[in-house]
Amino acid sequence: MSRERSEAVIYRLVKYSDSSAIAMAFSRVYGKLKLFIPKAYTKKGGVISFMPGMLDFVKKPTDLSRYYSFEPDTAFYKYLNNHDIILRLHLIFEIYDGLYHMDMPDEKLYDLILKMDDTNFRKITPYIIYFMLKHSGVMFELDACVNCASDEDLYTVTSSGIFCSVCSADLSLTSCCDKESSYIIKCFGNSSLYRNLTVNRKQEIQVLTALSGYAEHVLERPLKSIKTVFDII
Ligand SMILES: [Zn+2]
Repeated sequence: MSRERSEAVIYRLVKYSDSSAIAMAFSRVYGKLKLFIPKAYTKKGGVISFMPGMLDFVKKPTDLSRYYSFEPDTAFYKYLNNHDIILRLHLIFEIYDGLYHMDMPDEKLYDLILKMDDTNFRKITPYIIYFMLKHSGVMFELDACVNCASDEDLYTVTSSGIFCSVCSADLSLTSCCDKESSYIIKCFGNSSLYRNLTVNRKQEIQVLTALSGYAEHVLERPLKSIKTVFDII
């Protein structure tokens, strides 16, 4: 058991006795961590969540690690007063927490989260959710109908995946995406196509409806943060 340092984002704090907390963090080096934080709520040692920073801790063989300190990265203070970003981070980390296990580091995901800013949040949030589903091995195929595996006319997106026009007529399915939004989803697998896309408010709502519905289907429980995201989006 040695003292470790890793970049991390603390994404959940649950009060534990007086001023202590049990926290969940996503660290660059170790992936998901569960930490015991003494004095998490005091004025002096208060812990800020949803802020990238440097975590100093001791990783224990049991799943509860010992926290020493967390130093927020001042470059990300812009997140604090930005509801657009903070609410989307709530959704991203609710899905992260459901999909990722302990000892499942994902540096690419960490880098993606750090790329979020006030100019790209509509475009990067759906991509990050896709990325997490894909990396945990549960994302539906983007170029084959869920029902018949056809690769033609794939425009009907539901919370169970993407369907061709024949199957969506046979099964009377309603798509939560129009053609432009379905196209955005189909571009997730091709970073050069995705890079050139623009995602507007309407498209973000449709794509997030599809992806969060699918994540709920995979996790077998509703996502608490999605309603708040749609309220302010
Ligand atoms: Zn089909």
